[in-house]
Amino acid sequence: MDCVFCRIVRGELPSRKVYEDEGFVAFHDIRPKAPVHVLVVPKEHVEKLSDYPDTEEGERKLGALFRTANRVARLLGLPGYKLQVHVGEKGGQEVFHVHVHVMGSPG
Ligand code: AMP
Repeated sequence: MDCVFCRIVRGELPSRKVYEDEGFVAFHDIRPKAPVHVLVVPKEHVEKLSDYPDTEEGERKLGALFRTANRVARLLGLPGYKLQVHVGEKGGQEVFHVHVHVMGSPG
């Protein structure tokens, strides 16, 4: 899949990775908009958040995504943070592989 985040997942493009498990990777955004700005990305290629089906399976995947975002924020020691998801072109999405922005300041 010729998708920038799929290529990062496969290790074909460099990234400043902060977390990885069997389902997700998290790495620093190349154009940070906060002192700490990390993207949490599922390894499975799904274009946008609204493509997750309105089913228990979709709920499980959405839950896993936000659970991982919380876990990454905890690992980064963020006392508070903002989670942001752009959905679709009209929602400001630029990279069409689901991701959650985790933005905050340490300590
Ligand atoms: P959006 O699709 O609008 O939610 O945002 C995509 C984000 O991905 C932007 O904040 C970009 O700076 C970031 N981005 C794009 N390419 C890379 C890359 N190769 N490594 C890290 N972050 C990236």
